[in-house]
Amino acid sequence: MKTFFLDEHGCSKNQVDAEILISRLQKLGMKKVLQPEDAELIVINTCGFIESAKKESLDALMDARAAYPNSKILFSGCLAERYAEMFATDLPEADAIFGNGDLTKIDDVIHALNNGERPIIKTPQEGVCCGERNELLNFPGSAYIKITEGCNNCCSFCAIPVIRGELRSRPVNEIVDEIKGLLKRGVFEFNLIGQDLAAYGRDGVKRGATGDSIFLEEPSPLKLLLKNISAIEGDFWVRLLYIHPDHFPKDILPVIKADHRILHYFDIPFQSGDNDVIRSMNRVGTAKGYSNLVKLLRSELAEPTSLCVRPKLGAAIRTTFLCGFPGETEEAAKNTQAFLQEIEPDWSGCFTYSLEEDTVAYTMPNPVPEAIANERAEKLRELQTKITTDRLKRHIGKEYRVLIEEIILAHSKDAIDDDGNELKVPDDKQSEEGLAIGRAWFQAPDVDGACVVRYALENPKEVAAIVPGKTVTVRVVAVSGVDLDTILLA
Ligand code: SF4
Repeated sequence: MKTFFLDEHGCSKNQVDAEILISRLQKLGMKKVLQPEDAELIVINTCGFIESAKKESLDALMDARAAYPNSKILFSGCLAERYAEMFATDLPEADAIFGNGDLTKIDDVIHALNNGERPIIKTPQEGVCCGERNELLNFPGSAYIKITEGCNNCCSFCAIPVIRGELRSRPVNEIVDEIKGLLKRGVFEFNLIGQDLAAYGRDGVKRGATGDSIFLEEPSPLKLLLKNISAIEGDFWVRLLYIHPDHFPKDILPVIKADHRILHYFDIPFQSGDNDVIRSMNRVGTAKGYSNLVKLLRSELAEPTSLCVRPKLGAAIRTTFLCGFPGETEEAAKNTQAFLQEIEPDWSGCFTYSLEEDTVAYTMPNPVPEAIANERAEKLRELQTKITTDRLKRHIGKEYRVLIEEIILAHSKDAIDDDGNELKVPDDKQSEEGLAIGRAWFQAPDVDGACVVRYALENPKEVAAIVPGKTVTVRVVAVSGVDLDTILLA
C-alpha cells in the first residue's frame, strides 16, 4: 500500500495519536492523501467514549466499506481498543483492528496487511505514546501537547480508565523538548491536554481519602512542569485544558501570574452543581467549593493588564455538564442550573448521560429518561448562551492579541495571485474588506467562539499582517452570537 487517508474522530488526545500515526505511516513510505477514494488504506481513528461517539465511528466504517470496497480499512483508536476482542470476530468490515496502547506497533499492522493478513493488535496501556508529529491537525500555529494518558479518578460515569488504563505522566524534559521543537517550527499556542492535568505526575495515586490528600500536596508536579515551560524563551501561549475540580493545584497560580504567556484560561469539568449527584459521580467536591474555586481564579488573576496580553476580566472558565445521571432529580437539575448561573462560565458543553458498561454508574438505579435528560441539557445550553453573550459584551472596545486560524475572504476586485498573475475574482468574492478567523486568549481551539477579523484589502500592510498561524492585534467592535466582530489594528 502506498497511500492512506485519515478519518479522525474523538477528542484532542485522540488527535495527537492520529498525528503520531501519520508520521509513522509516512516513515513507512506511505503518502497521506486528502480524498478517501485516492487511498489504498483508510485509517478510521475511532472514539469509544460514549454511545453517540461509538455510533459515529461505526457508521464511518460502514460508509467507507460500502464506498471503497477495494481499499483496506484500519480501525484504530479508543473504540478499537475497547472492543478489539469482539471486533476480531464480529466486525469483518474492518481489515485490521489496532488498539492504542503502543502506536509504534502500527508498523506491524501495515506489514501484516501488506502480507494479506487481518491483524488484530492490542497492546497493554503503558507509557504515554508520543513521537514525531510532522503534520499537526490543528489550524496553523496551534498544537495539542499530551502530558498524561489514562486516569485514576474513576468518575462513576466514565469509561476512559477502562479504555486508556491507569494514569501515566510524561517526563517534564520530554514535554519541554517537544514544545521547544514545535516552537522552532513556528507553533505559537500550546494546549496542554490529558484526562486530568491536575493529576500530572501523580502516577499510581488512587482516589480515596489518602489519594485525595496526596493530590493536594505541594508543590504540585503540574507547578514544576509549568515552571519548566516558563523557563523556555520565546513568544508563545500555553493553555491548560481539563483540570479536575476536586484537586485543582492552586500552587500553579503564582507561576501563571508571573508569566503572561500562560493563559488565564481553565477548562474545569464540573459535571454537576448538585452535591448528591457530584457524590454519586464518585467526586468529593461540592457546588459551593466549586463556586469558590471559580471566584478564586477570577480574583487571583484579575490584576491590571497591559494591551491585549493580560485580561482585565479575570480568568476565562470553560466547563462541562452531564445531564440525566442516574438518580438526578428535578431538584438536582435545578441546583445545576442555579450553579451555572452562579459561576457564569465563559463557555460550557452540556451532554446527556450515556449508559456505559464496565463503569460503576452502569448498574445504578433510577435511570433518567432520555427525553428528560435532553430537556435538561437544552435548558443549560440556553442559560449558557445568555451568559456567554453577556460576558463577551465586556470585551467590546478592548484590544486583544489574536492568533489567526484561517482567511475567509481575501480578494479585492483587482487581486493578483502569488505568482503575480491577474486573478479572476468571481463577483461574489469581490470585497474591499477581508475577513479572517482567529482566537484571543479566552477562546480555546475547536470548542469556543472565535474572533472575526475585518481588514482592508486595499491596504497591503494589513493584507500582509493576516497570515494563518501568526498573531495580530484587533479591537473588538461587536458580539455576533458566540463570536466577536473585530477590526485589525495594523
Ligand atoms: S477525570 Fe473522570 S471523567 Fe475525566 S477521564 Fe478521568 S475518570 Fe473520566
